[in-house]
Amino acid sequence: MVRRGHIPQRMCTGCGRRFARSGLVRFTVVEDGDTRIAVLDPGGKAPGRGAYVCPSRRCLERALSRRTLERRLRVERVHPSVDDLFDAVATRAAGGASPGNTRCDTAGES
Ligand SMILES: [Zn+2]
Repeated sequence: MVRRGHIPQRMCTGCGRRFARSGLVRFTVVEDGDTRIAVLDPGGKAPGRGAYVCPSRRCLERALSRRTLERRLRVERVHPSVDDLFDAVATRAAGGASPGNTRCDTAGES
């Protein structure tokens, strides 16, 4: 099977299916003292270990309730609640889906 224009795919931690990476939300690991915590990675570019979940409430809840996200990232816990996560994911999905989103607009902020 030839894969032209290869699209990087990642497995959803919630449902276990594979999707294009750009269609998933990424979690990354931060250290809070001695505790490792999984947090949402809004830009999807934080260095280090990452895990992906579909931007759907069902998959988020599944990944959290089964602790698959914690196991995959080897963290103590996931930082925000499902509701906060879902808000963030929904916001990102609404705002980040347009192809013309500006990525270079941080220069003037400081
Ligand atoms: Zn999923």
